[in-house]
Amino acid sequence: MPRPTIAIVGAGFSGTLLALHLLRRCPEAIRVTLIERNSAFGRGQAYATGNPSHLLNVPAARMSAFHDQPNDFVDWLRRQPDAEALLAQGFVPRRLFGAYVRALLSEEVKRPENDGRLELLRGDVAGLSKTEAGLTLAMDGDRWLPADLAVLAIGNFPPEPPPCADADFLDGPLYLPDPWAADSFAALPPEAPVLLIGTGLTMVDATISLLDQGHRGPIHALSRRGLLPRRHAATAPRPAPVAALPATLVELVRSLRGEARRAAAGGGDWRPVVDRLRPFTQDVWQALSPADQSRFLRHLRPWWDVHRHRMAGPVADRIEAARASGQLRLHVGRIQTLRQEGGIAELTYRRRGDGETVELRVARVVNCAGPGCDYDRIDHPLVRSLLQAGLVRPDPLRLGLDVTGTCALRDRSGAISRRLFAVGPVTKGSFWEMTAVPDIRRQCEVVAEHLAGIVRATLA
Ligand SMILES: Cc1cc2nc3c(=O)[nH]c(=O)nc-3n(C[C@H](O)[C@H](O)[C@H](O)COP(=O)(O)OP(=O)(O)OC[C@H]3O[C@@H](n4cnc5c(N)ncnc54)[C@H](O)[C@@H]3O)c2cc1C
Repeated sequence: MPRPTIAIVGAGFSGTLLALHLLRRCPEAIRVTLIERNSAFGRGQAYATGNPSHLLNVPAARMSAFHDQPNDFVDWLRRQPDAEALLAQGFVPRRLFGAYVRALLSEEVKRPENDGRLELLRGDVAGLSKTEAGLTLAMDGDRWLPADLAVLAIGNFPPEPPPCADADFLDGPLYLPDPWAADSFAALPPEAPVLLIGTGLTMVDATISLLDQGHRGPIHALSRRGLLPRRHAATAPRPAPVAALPATLVELVRSLRGEARRAAAGGGDWRPVVDRLRPFTQDVWQALSPADQSRFLRHLRPWWDVHRHRMAGPVADRIEAARASGQLRLHVGRIQTLRQEGGIAELTYRRRGDGETVELRVARVVNCAGPGCDYDRIDHPLVRSLLQAGLVRPDPLRLGLDVTGTCALRDRSGAISRRLFAVGPVTKGSFWEMTAVPDIRRQCEVVAEHLAGIVRATLA
């Protein structure tokens, strides 16, 4: 009998970790095929950065790949050159986390018992179809891979383009749609003014990259509310246990505000108030009604994001220094027009508060507005083909694809697939916080356990 095959599309953190957990939980006679279109397995978008100033925004002590081995990443760091200096930092360069995940994968590849159980395949999956026996994945136009189960671990997508931009501008050389592209700031004169759309962590990364390459010109950052991610505290007090979990948006806001006020009145800090909700965020999200979830996204999301996803101290210091020197300038408002005029990008925006129209003229516009997640508008061949075939559908909140609690994808009619699953940011609609490593690693464990159960039942 042929080995049941589980194909994982995407070998960033989510796909790689799922593969590791599947190998630990599945019977011996299984094949896990991990497929990645880029050359580097195990890094994905977040941990591929070569820039040592791009730091993790979660302390190293919370970045273990395994929920039940919390020191695994720190122990790995201890075995690296300059371990003491790295550990003293608390927030280490993101590329080191990528190296750690790759090291975990390499160990797994080398294990004799995984011979024939784990396959790393370089390829771009462009389509997937159901067959009588299972599934077939189409790769690179001329390769087909049969599989019994498949898991989408395709991660985040570039931000959506600003709606009011002139179409020629979006196709032109002054607009950079992908803030993570390696050549984003190549050939940018050091004195040139730049506009970053967005004021979140992606803008922070882009600003750090500009400062690192010696950029001296003005860096404008624009968003509707102008909210900057807060900084991590130098020492984080242990969050107290949560007494009761909110079940409505009103209760959530009331409890967060009340507890933060009480903490401040006692000379404490708001951060543990946010952090103590972390292990329960998905339960709270799922307890909210659809109307409350939509209200949260419309009104509270930017506030949640800047308090929940914070900047490492050294990064925050550089951002504050750039603001204090006047090089980094925050603008608050809504873009009205964006076009190219004689080799310069011209933007107008309506300023929040007084409604004044403000004009900016810059050499480059970089879209740092955060990952695009409306799958109806994402330009990704596999996503387009799955939607067209009706094998998947966007979730009602337009945060990702519609999945069940065990991450099975729902098709166009809402039917639950027995063979097709997803992990990572793709599943945000159902779980909301499915961005950071601590959330994804837990999800991968749960999904691996579920898929191992399906495989065992198939073999029985
Ligand atoms: C810039 C950035 C910094 C972050 N920093 C932190 C941090 O400090 N701490 C933290 O906890 N979290 C952080 N996160 C969040 C989190 O860790 C990531 O979002 C997480 O790594 C997501 O992993 P992923 O594997 O789901 O997606 P990705 O990393 O995007 O990986 C998806 C992979 O799928 C591949 N792929 C896509 N489509 C196909 C296809 N059709 N065929 C084959 N391969 C395909 C891609 O090439 C890619 O390698 C950060 C996120 C970003 C974007």
